[in-house]
Amino acid sequence: MLNDKHGVVFGVANKRSIAFACARAAAEAGARVILTYQGERLKEGVEQLAAGLPGDCIALPCDVSSDEAIDEAFIPIREHMPHMDFAVHSIAYAPRDELEKDYLATSRRGFLAAHEISTYSFTALAQRIAPLMEQGGSLLTMSYLGAERMVPHYNVMGLAKASLEASVRYLAADLGPRNIRVNAVSAGPIRTLASSGIGNFQTMLDIAATRSPLRRNVAVAEVANAALFLLSELSSGITGEVVYVDGGFNITAL
Ligand code: NAD
Repeated sequence: MLNDKHGVVFGVANKRSIAFACARAAAEAGARVILTYQGERLKEGVEQLAAGLPGDCIALPCDVSSDEAIDEAFIPIREHMPHMDFAVHSIAYAPRDELEKDYLATSRRGFLAAHEISTYSFTALAQRIAPLMEQGGSLLTMSYLGAERMVPHYNVMGLAKASLEASVRYLAADLGPRNIRVNAVSAGPIRTLASSGIGNFQTMLDIAATRSPLRRNVAVAEVANAALFLLSELSSGITGEVVYVDGGFNITAL
């Protein structure tokens, strides 16, 4: 499905990362993939994960906390992949204490950090990736229902995801004339490093499993399969969308 395609998956922390599931699905579908990790601490583990994938996959660092850091990361990324067909942004951060207290108590510092790392980084990456997609391409980011509904403890991340989903629409409008599509997957709760920071995450899992039409939680491979569809030509007519991979939970009221 992605034979001869080249792409970068940003935000691999470990084997449980949604980013890693996407990288694996893309590599198994024939793509050459660069996996990026935040910093030195994750280097060895992510290099091992990349080495275990089919094809010529490698791991490179990419910290998105400043424009300087992103520019530095793009020097080797561009060297290894001067032409790109797809990219997955699977990065989020909010200070842990912001996800434990009431939203009302959100600090300016926590608000800015969540939006800078989880939201602005998608636009900052798109600015650098779009020039490498001369033949068009597909950009994808990861969202969550907390963008639209109040989910206890999701707090400032909900606002950051709302802004991320809005940025999908604005980027889709800007990049559509260059045949670059921009979409988001809104995944149901999955146990990962990032989700372990959300207070009461087990309750989110339990409620989703009990009340979703499919009566279960989604597997990370199901998110990766939807990502594969959105990265491939099978979705060539789709842009600016948020696609739910949540067992249908988002359609329910009670
Ligand atoms: P994860 O912890 O595996 O991935 C989050 C990644 O963000 C990590 O690789 C981390 O290193 C990276 N990151 C944080 N700050 C960074 C920075 N400054 N520079 C570069 N990278 C940075 O967890 P995950 O659950 O796979 O999260 C991936 C995405 O999926 C996130 O956007 C998350 O909000 C979203 N998502 C997760 C769930 C879930 O339940 N796990 C549900 C819906 C959406």
